[in-house]
Amino acid sequence: MNDPDMRFHDLSRRPRRTLADAAVFISGTGTDVGKTVATSALLRALRQAGLAVQAVKPVQTGVEDAASQGDAACYARAVEDMPPGQLPPAATLHSFRLPASPHLAAAREGVRLTVAGLRRDIERHWRSLMAAHEGDAPCAVLLEGAGGLHVPFNEQEDTLDLMAVLAAPVIIVAYNGLGALNQVRLSLDAVRDRGLVTAGLVLMQPPDASHTADEATQAILADNESWLRARLEDEGIPLAVLPTVTLNEAGWERLAQAVRPVAQAVAALLRTPPNVTQALVRRDKKVLWHPYTSTIEPLPVFVAQRSHHNRLVLADGRELVDGMSSWWAAVHGYNHPRLLAALRAQAGRMPHVMFGGLTHAPAVELAERLLDMLPQGLARVFPADSGSVAVEVALKMALQYQQGIGQTQRTRFLTPRGGYHGDTTGAMSVCDPVTGMHSLFARMLPQQLFMERPRCRFDQPFDPASLDDARQKLAEHGHEVAAVILEPVVQGAGGMWFYHPDYLRGLAQLCREAGALLIFDEIATGFGRTGTLFAAERAGVTPDILCCGKALTGGVLTLAATVCTEQVADGICRGGNVFMHGPTYMGNPLACAVALASLRLLEEEDWRTRVQQLEQGLRQGLAPCAGLPGVADVRVLGGIGVVETTEAVPVALLQAFFVERGVWIRPFGRLIYLMPPYVTPPEDLARLCEAVGDAIRQGVHLSY
Ligand SMILES: *Cc1c(COP(=O)(O)O)cnc(C)c1O
Repeated sequence: MNDPDMRFHDLSRRPRRTLADAAVFISGTGTDVGKTVATSALLRALRQAGLAVQAVKPVQTGVEDAASQGDAACYARAVEDMPPGQLPPAATLHSFRLPASPHLAAAREGVRLTVAGLRRDIERHWRSLMAAHEGDAPCAVLLEGAGGLHVPFNEQEDTLDLMAVLAAPVIIVAYNGLGALNQVRLSLDAVRDRGLVTAGLVLMQPPDASHTADEATQAILADNESWLRARLEDEGIPLAVLPTVTLNEAGWERLAQAVRPVAQAVAALLRTPPNVTQALVRRDKKVLWHPYTSTIEPLPVFVAQRSHHNRLVLADGRELVDGMSSWWAAVHGYNHPRLLAALRAQAGRMPHVMFGGLTHAPAVELAERLLDMLPQGLARVFPADSGSVAVEVALKMALQYQQGIGQTQRTRFLTPRGGYHGDTTGAMSVCDPVTGMHSLFARMLPQQLFMERPRCRFDQPFDPASLDDARQKLAEHGHEVAAVILEPVVQGAGGMWFYHPDYLRGLAQLCREAGALLIFDEIATGFGRTGTLFAAERAGVTPDILCCGKALTGGVLTLAATVCTEQVADGICRGGNVFMHGPTYMGNPLACAVALASLRLLEEEDWRTRVQQLEQGLRQGLAPCAGLPGVADVRVLGGIGVVETTEAVPVALLQAFFVERGVWIRPFGRLIYLMPPYVTPPEDLARLCEAVGDAIRQGVHLSY
């Protein structure tokens, strides 16, 4: 195989041990349920099974004096009689005096705990254990949380958030008593909803379980145990029941025996080699097709496993700073709790229902809110499944409108070169004929009219001559044009070109004069990306029809919308006509509910300031690329930064270079571009820009 990218492939597929493969998180249904004893017993049982394992308490509260080791002392006692090995002793990473929730105890001492900080400390500690431990097998850590799953670290983050970024299997510890079934169920559901695996349940028996308790209590305790055993077996979760014992050597031995069913499951997980990545890539190659690729010579793919904030986590544990927002969509970053909460709540109510003859609150509220945000004059929302479908709908609306008003000869569309409107047939017909590869589909595609790309740069004074071609095309063909369709201000996938908003004002006037409708495709530009909520605002133009999508759901689900004026709707429907379109999943309630939550977030979170900060950071960060060999242009608008090269770039090579740098940037054609989530912190934005700069300084974009 003469694959120039091999040196990077090997790096990217190297199996790695990650903290997620080596950690187990122990949490409880509440405080004082016996987590520390359960953790200690598990530590002993796992060591007996031959594993190199140490227990760690990331946050301990209620520690009187600095010398006290809190729970770590208990872990140590449980294995006191065993050979010490080379591992450093059990440790507490943060301790606070007040016996309260970590957020409060830490605040009392002027400390603000964060999930990112805790994760870093845990990772560092685990690496030090790995360094001290010399065996072949990696060293595992048992991480005991403070209190239950929703115990907060600060005003926004809690224990579940930490568990989710660690992505380790979870052990739930519960105290057997009245209420245990309910508490256990709630905890298991919360863990599952975060996409985490429960590796076992440890049920702690009260001290008087078998002797002094009255008959009713005994019946409850016994039923709890058998009920849980049966239900958990169905879910493949092992159960261990731990008696109350005197905590001496014999006692710890009894507990280690009792916890064995859970310890075995944990040991099996810890022993599984981390080969997920290679296996999945191989299987992917056999059965899947990726965007714009060959099945014979596919571009390499990386396995994404989890995401959070502005980060993507690969299956081999590497965490990448995201520079793409998953193709314009994930403006709030990934796994935003508000979006996920909206999704779950709607899933619980009604995931989907046909839109023919039925309506629902998520669709109505979304349409109302969208119309509030869109340029004045747009009045009707037609929900569509994807951007391409929204464009098809827009084209059909324009055709039906012209028929409705008796202009049946208007059957063609006029559009600038360099545009991109999607990959379905109608949408493809108005894409740039060269980059859209019209030659492949020439017989099938309707033949549209093309005009020159708006050549007046965004950042230069407007040149009225840039409208000459539009004027001429409309003069020649105006009578047969149903509509002009284009992306306002930013041409996206057709070249990441930014042009002057005055062009749109002039074009709107020309359309009016020619009797053609004006369609704005804001699928990429919508929802703040270019620095205004919609790019149309920069020109002060309301189009007759507008398409939006991509960031509409904040990157969670596919949803788009075609919005038109009352005049267009009336033109279509007058004389008893109907609009002829209706996708099966039209107005999907899940997607509408998430979109609604995303639009609310946009309004609350001051997207304008954030996009301005992105623009500043991108300008500063990408400026050094200008003038370097092989660079044709550097341009920035809002949250979009573009380095245009003189030749097409080696995508696979650059991609691998960027992944090694810990950033996710996917170039195409002659474009290396960034459009990070709005929530990207300045230091991460700098990292993205530096990675682009380094690639260009090292000439990776030129190396074929
Ligand atoms: C992405 C895009 C589309 C197509 O949207 P899909 O959801 O991918 O079908 C259409 N127009 C523009 C401007 C786009 O950026």
